[in-house]
Amino acid sequence: MIARTYTATTHGLEPVKIEVEVDSNRGTPTLVLIGLATKAVEESKERITSALINCGIRIRSRRTIVNLAPADIRKSSPTFELAIAIGMLKMYKEININTDDTIFFGELSLSGELKSIRGALPLVIAARQMGFKKVILPAANKKEVAIISGITIYPIKHLQDYLIFSKGGKPLVKLANKKFKPNHLIGDSTDFKDIYGQENVKRALTISAAGGHNVLLIGPPGAGKSLLAKAISSILPPLTEQEAIEVTTIYSISHNKITDLISCRPFRAPHHTTSYVGLIGGGRYLKPGEISLAHRGILFLDEFTEFDRHSLETLRQPLEDRTITIIRARGSVTYPAAFSLIVAANPCQCGWQGSLQKICRCSKFDLNRYQKKFSGPILDRIDLFVRVKPVNLKKISDFTSNNQSSSAQIRNQVSLARNIQIEYLAKINCTTNSELTAKQVQQKLKLSPAATQLLMKASINLNLTARGYFRLIKVAQTIANLNQKTRISKLHLAEALQYRQDNLF
Ligand SMILES: [Zn+2]
Repeated sequence: MIARTYTATTHGLEPVKIEVEVDSNRGTPTLVLIGLATKAVEESKERITSALINCGIRIRSRRTIVNLAPADIRKSSPTFELAIAIGMLKMYKEININTDDTIFFGELSLSGELKSIRGALPLVIAARQMGFKKVILPAANKKEVAIISGITIYPIKHLQDYLIFSKGGKPLVKLANKKFKPNHLIGDSTDFKDIYGQENVKRALTISAAGGHNVLLIGPPGAGKSLLAKAISSILPPLTEQEAIEVTTIYSISHNKITDLISCRPFRAPHHTTSYVGLIGGGRYLKPGEISLAHRGILFLDEFTEFDRHSLETLRQPLEDRTITIIRARGSVTYPAAFSLIVAANPCQCGWQGSLQKICRCSKFDLNRYQKKFSGPILDRIDLFVRVKPVNLKKISDFTSNNQSSSAQIRNQVSLARNIQIEYLAKINCTTNSELTAKQVQQKLKLSPAATQLLMKASINLNLTARGYFRLIKVAQTIANLNQKTRISKLHLAEALQYRQDNLF
């Protein structure tokens, strides 16, 4: 008799249902795995056999064949081990209950203990979509999936637990469903009120947080560019439930071990020596890169001019489409990559161009060469250009924590501005102004007559490109939203004009 159990895997983020068939016949006693199993899955044979023996099961001296279907999907994860072990137990008639409405996930240790798996969250969501009623998975993954309702989840620690239950022994304990709680925990980012001065930078970061705009910070070494960029985490609104699931899914399928649902917006700051695959994604196991790990959060590139040119130019697609498609010989995968980009750089090679503290030693030729290092296509997608000046030490005594807005206050402002956007953007499936296309800007955003006049004047005087023109309107719209308005006034537009590139170089 052929025994059958179910499990699943992910190809990129796409779930694939896997049917495990177990049969045995006369022949040399061995365990054979078929169905495009990779070396990693081949090793599972030893673990499964050992786990079964350690659970007191006698391995029959017959040839056992395990087929993983569909056979055209490469199986490279040890997540199937529990389903295979249960299939063998069914074939041995050690388990006699119907498991057709149950899906099994888990990697086995030699003793039969279950180890946590990658991708638990997307796999459980997929199992529910596939119509399964019950999920059996390792107890170590339970916090990550507790938010999922509509399917009964049984976390178990040991293969023996299921064996005992199936024989009418101790029943399995259902996982209690947990309600999603938006999280304001900010980690180790600095509070805005503890950063002295820098009002123009703080304002630009507030606009970025409110409208999802990309920022370039330019300033001499030690001016506090990275400190300021990192502080943006403290003013971002918390993730919604849907966003938290999206972010956790990416971390769950990558090699990062996660223990709980991720409810804070990610802040990723890859070093400029990070490889192309590390930044963009791909590699042998098609891992998501930093740009996907920054999904729904911030990607911060410090020392922007030092990054590999090819990697930077590839950022063009995710910055436009908010996804990245990685093409490989065996097919392509698409990962989400909807991040806000913050980049920081020195103004010139020596770092002191335009500074009052030190004299810039760069020649005109040096300056030209340095500015060429800024990737054109990326600069073209920056919404806010900001100069970061070192704070005058003599003036520090003028500042006290009391006269500066705290991150909590600014976060409140940002959340209000985002709520206004959600109202007029919900219908077109956008959440922030930065996502609007040129056509949507024309349809959705309104300017006062005085603002329209200023816009006309600016586009002639500044020789605005089409992209620059629409970017200006989007930034002005976010400024209006921060003032609790939906229509752009002349003042909003005038402020947006301050963050243009030509004010910088
Ligand atoms: Zn210089």
